[in-house]
Amino acid sequence: MVRHRIGGEETSGSSSRTAPVWDPATGEQQAEVVLAEPADVDAAIAAAWEAFADWSEASLSRRAKVMFAFRELLNANVEKLARIVSSEHGKVLEDAKGEVLRGLEVVEFACGIPQLLKGEYSDQVSTTVDAYSFRQPLGVCAGITPFNFPAMVPMWMHPVAIACGNAFVLKPSERDPSASNLVAELYAEAGLPEGVFNVVHGDKVAVDALLDHPDVAAISFVGSTPIASYVHARATEKRKRVQALGGAKNHAIVMPGADLGYAADQLAAAGFGSAGQRCMAISVAVAVGESGDALVEEVAGRAREIKVGPGLEPDSEMGPVVTPQARDRIVDYIGEGAEAGARLTVDGRELEVDGGGFWVGPTLIDQVQPEMSVYTDEIFGPVLSIVRSDSLDEAIALINRNSYANGAAIFTGSGHEARRFQRQVEVGMIGINVPIPVPMAFYSFGGWKESLFGDHHIHGPEGVRFYTRGKAITSRWPAGNAAGPGDTGSMHFPTSS
Ligand code: NAD
Repeated sequence: MVRHRIGGEETSGSSSRTAPVWDPATGEQQAEVVLAEPADVDAAIAAAWEAFADWSEASLSRRAKVMFAFRELLNANVEKLARIVSSEHGKVLEDAKGEVLRGLEVVEFACGIPQLLKGEYSDQVSTTVDAYSFRQPLGVCAGITPFNFPAMVPMWMHPVAIACGNAFVLKPSERDPSASNLVAELYAEAGLPEGVFNVVHGDKVAVDALLDHPDVAAISFVGSTPIASYVHARATEKRKRVQALGGAKNHAIVMPGADLGYAADQLAAAGFGSAGQRCMAISVAVAVGESGDALVEEVAGRAREIKVGPGLEPDSEMGPVVTPQARDRIVDYIGEGAEAGARLTVDGRELEVDGGGFWVGPTLIDQVQPEMSVYTDEIFGPVLSIVRSDSLDEAIALINRNSYANGAAIFTGSGHEARRFQRQVEVGMIGINVPIPVPMAFYSFGGWKESLFGDHHIHGPEGVRFYTRGKAITSRWPAGNAAGPGDTGSMHFPTSS
């Protein structure tokens, strides 16, 4: 049974509700996770609130020391965490290690908290008057995270929030909950005081309790667009600070002058890696001009060669999808694409893997039109659509009409085309000959439009701003008497002298 971690203790809480945790490679249930009731969420918030009093007073060097120790422990446990991720999510082990390492980079960013929280100081803004500013933590912050990166996405949030002096309550995905419990153990071993980091497992009941609780100051959410929109609306109504990252439909434009072999390799990896269950996966390739037929042939060849198998088997390149519902949904979309007249160049429904498991093979659909559901909807599976386009302008206009705006890439041999693309395309993260342009931890991650609700991107400098609030101080220290000669106060609005 996967249980909550509240105030340093493991607990089943008050609920009798549970959810199955599958092994997606065999189709068998491998564990159960408890689903919190509002009383369990209240207990986690109370533990966090109590811990916040001391932690927010901890010196910057103490916070940095805890983060450095946490970083070392994480580094020593990459393999262990990755195995947990792979067994519950289904992704292949090397991919799971990659996600842990990208999360670890955010911890390394948070180790620099003394530098990141340096304020501003202006000497002598008026006679004997100085002005300065600094930032303070918010209180208890909550994170609600998706299934597809059970280690990395929470690490976009909690290291920055905690290093800024906040306490944190994490509600991970109920589909792959165990990685978060190991992270909680590592924080405790690193010397983080009990209650600063808590894990509550649950579903909508737990999420709503977090959104409504008056002692939660900020909500970071990552998940699908409908839930992101809901979370943002409900939590802002409760006067909370909210960043809610939503779904995606990421396009990659392939120009006629691009290296087609390279582009095909990258498209296959970015479209089918992690069985397409990445918010930065490429799900649409826009083939411009005469590159189309050759590109389809090259990508199809690679798609057919991908070794699909259990994530923990060393030669697997792509694992299963996360649940039976996810598999059925993906299979339905492939059928809808074929019925709408698109050409199924590689059909992943035909894949056969021994044993049970939630399998869909790499699927390549050519001649996709923008009104088809395979184009309009986020499928979140190993399905790559090819749309043909006559020009770069037309391809950019297609991307800009899409309601999602997380990432977009261009494959080109022309600096001029790349530059035009990066200036004109309306998305948050852009790759130039790079298919999955996830920003490094010291930049911030986030999309535009329906891919992000709220004003702050996540981690990096915007993460530090999100988890703190600023104070500006104006202070006067004249020699001797605080009221200097002739300084008797004025009824006028103060100006500098
Ligand atoms: P999801 O929206 O179903 O779930 C996300 C979280 O919300 C989970 O913790 C879940 O328990 C909770 N939740 C689910 N339904 C809810 C409801 N009705 N009310 C309140 N809370 C609810 O997402 P998922 O299927 O776990 O993850 C895949 C989605 O996440 C995809 O859409 C993907 O694009 C998106 N995603 C986006 C980013 C990004 O950076 N923009 C990153 C990763 C994943």
